[in-house]
Amino acid sequence: MDVSRRDLLRLSVAGGAGTALGGLIASGVDLAPTVVKAQQLRIRDARITPSVCPFCAVGCATLVHTVNDQIVNIEGDPRSPHNEGTLCPKGAATFQLHINPSRPVQVLHRAPGAADWEVWDLNRAMDRVAELVKTTRDDTFIERLANGKLVNATTAIFSLGGATLDIEFNHIHQKLLRGLGIVAIENQARI
Ligand code: SF4
Repeated sequence: MDVSRRDLLRLSVAGGAGTALGGLIASGVDLAPTVVKAQQLRIRDARITPSVCPFCAVGCATLVHTVNDQIVNIEGDPRSPHNEGTLCPKGAATFQLHINPSRPVQVLHRAPGAADWEVWDLNRAMDRVAELVKTTRDDTFIERLANGKLVNATTAIFSLGGATLDIEFNHIHQKLLRGLGIVAIENQARI
């Protein structure tokens, strides 16, 4: 049987109305208080820690709820004068920065020309990155331009940062990269 978009909507509504929930909704019962109560139960005994959304320069204030040192919820802080308890969809997903079973937790390396990924020990990966940075920097470092202008730079290495890198990381990162002569440094938060 072909089911059009309109048929699907009609069948969904009919199916919903056939359930206990659908029956309640159809009879005009206001479920809002129940939903609010369920949300409150989830964080009733949680410890609340004020924090800031890491994603952009708006810096929306958040409240982080923890139970036994585990994050159970992150939401906007209603006391904040500029976000007033709200978060954009990205900020509202901050919880998944911490709790996310889909997040890779191992270093994966795919050698040039290889079809498969190999799991690397973190120290091995860090050593390899340092080795390649050193080699590339030494091979491409320019002390002076052709006109004699002192530049002490390499344009062979580029650094691209993400919005969730915090200010402390960026501060150290800048010092390291500028010290190496790297000039192409980009980060969503701008530096
Ligand atoms: S909630 Fe959205 S607007 Fe607010 S700081 Fe986070 S990313 Fe920026």
